[in-house]
Amino acid sequence: MHTEADWAAQLHSHDRRVTKQRLAVLAAVGQLPHATAEAVTDAARATLQALTLQSVYVVLADLTALGMLRRIEPPNSPARYETRTGDNHHHAICTSCGKIEDVDCAVGHAPCLTPSSTTMTIKIADVLYQGICSDCGP
Ligand SMILES: [Zn+2]
Ligand SMILES: [Zn+2]
Ligand SMILES: [Zn+2]
Repeated sequence: MHTEADWAAQLHSHDRRVTKQRLAVLAAVGQLPHATAEAVTDAARATLQALTLQSVYVVLADLTALGMLRRIEPPNSPARYETRTGDNHHHAICTSCGKIEDVDCAVGHAPCLTPSSTTMTIKIADVLYQGICSDCGP
């Protein structure tokens, strides 16, 4: 888990001011891995009531561009955010309820799948496992 001091140091290293908004969003994403922007806003309002969904979108986009957050885009679902970055882990999504779990990459480095043929230099294999979670399952 990241502490507020960790986040402040990372923001400084990216030449971003340490604001209450950024800290509230980072803390909320840390508590709720794979949360939507709306869920992040609800959670962050517990500490910062005046926060708007629009400003949360702006903060999430900026922190994702900096690499402090990772954005996941599951099919047919709004984007999710998480603080677990830089380890090339994958995701499993329940096709019934939309719950998302982390799946450690068996290889660890990106890309972990080598295509049999392509003219491109591949950087990332974006793996999304789809299945049924234990709450929804048979
Ligand atoms: Zn489910
Ligand atoms: Zn994840
Ligand atoms: Zn992998």
